[in-house]
Amino acid sequence: MRNTKVLIIGSGPAGHTAAIYAARANLEPIVLEGSPPNLPGGQLMLTTDVENFPGFEKGISGPELMETMRSQASRVGAEFVSQNATHIDFSNRPFIIQTDGDEEFSADTVIISTGASAKWLSLPSETALYSKGVSACATCDGFFFRGRDVLVVGGGDTALEEALYLSRLTRTVTLIHRREALRGSAIMQRRLLETPNISVIWNSIITEVHDVELGKVTGVTLRNLSTDVLSFQPADGLFVAIGHKPNTDLFKDHLDLDKQGYIVTKPGTTLTNIPGVFAAGDVQDSVYRQAVTAAGTGCMAAIDAERFLEGLCT
Ligand code: NDP
Repeated sequence: MRNTKVLIIGSGPAGHTAAIYAARANLEPIVLEGSPPNLPGGQLMLTTDVENFPGFEKGISGPELMETMRSQASRVGAEFVSQNATHIDFSNRPFIIQTDGDEEFSADTVIISTGASAKWLSLPSETALYSKGVSACATCDGFFFRGRDVLVVGGGDTALEEALYLSRLTRTVTLIHRREALRGSAIMQRRLLETPNISVIWNSIITEVHDVELGKVTGVTLRNLSTDVLSFQPADGLFVAIGHKPNTDLFKDHLDLDKQGYIVTKPGTTLTNIPGVFAAGDVQDSVYRQAVTAAGTGCMAAIDAERFLEGLCT
C-alpha cells in the first residue's frame, strides 16, 4: 500500500492543473492518469486544433496541450501512474483506492477529475470521420466551418445551443431530430425557430455519415422514421449533440450526484459531500465543459485540498 497526501483520479486539464498546484505546494500528488479503454489526457486527446486555450496565440493541438501539461506537472514533482481506479473506500480517512494494476493507495485527500464523455451515434462512419468534419463541440470546432453548411443532431438544450452558436458562424445549420418535438427549453426553441439560417428536419435519424473514402464530411444519409424513406442531406460538418455522460460510475454509491450523474459540489468550491474528497472539471460541470474552466476548477481543488490538509494538522 502506498500513502499519499493527495491522490488525483483523472488526467484531463482539471487533473493536470490540480497536480501542478498540489506539487508546487509540496503535497507530492499522485495522479492516476488512466489507461485504455480510458483515455489519459481526456477529451482533448481527441481534438485537433485548440484555439481557445489562452496562451497559445497560434493554437495548439489537443494532444500537444495535454502532453505539455503533463510534462509541467511532472517537472514540478507530480507522479503519474498509468492505471485506472477500480475500487474506492471513502468511508474512513485515509481513503483507500485500488487500481486495475493491483496497487492500493491510501490517500488523505482525493481529487476526482475523471471528466465526461460525449455520447455518440455509434455509427462506424461517424467514428471514422471524427475530427474530419464530425465533432461533439461547436465551441471548439465551429470556427473551422465559417461560411459552410453544417448539421447538428439532437433535440435537447445542448443541440439547440450548439445550433444557435454555429448559426453565427456558418452559412446554414440543419438540426436533425428523431422526434417531432424538441426537448430543449421553450426560450431556446423559440430562438432556434426564429433564426433564419437554421432549419429543422424532424422525425429523422442519421444512418450513415459520408464520405469515409474521401476522409471528409460531405453529407449524411437520413431515414425518416414516419415514412422509412432514405434521403441524402449534403453538409460540410456534423455536430453530434445528443448529451454527455459524466464518468462517475465508480462514485455513484459513495458521493452525491445530481440527476444527470454529475458530482455535486458546494457552490463556489470543489467540496463534495465527503470532507477530503474534491471534484474538478467536467465530472462536476454540465454547463461550461471547457478546457479552461476545467483547469480553473482543478486549481481550486488543489487549493481546497491544501486547506483541508492544513486543518488536519492544526
Ligand atoms: P438531453 O438528454 O437533454 O438531450 C439529448 C437529445 O439528444 C434529446 O433530444 C434526444 O432525443 C437526443 N438523442 C439522444 N440519443 C440519441 C440518438 N442515439 N440519436 C438521435 N438523437 C438522440 O442532453 P443535453 O446535452 O441536450 O442536455 C443535458 C442537460 O443539460 C439538460 O438538462 C439540459 O437542459 C442542460 N443544458 C442546459 C443548457 C442551458 O441551459 N444553456 C445548455 C446545455 C445543456 P429525444 O428528445 O427523442 O430523447
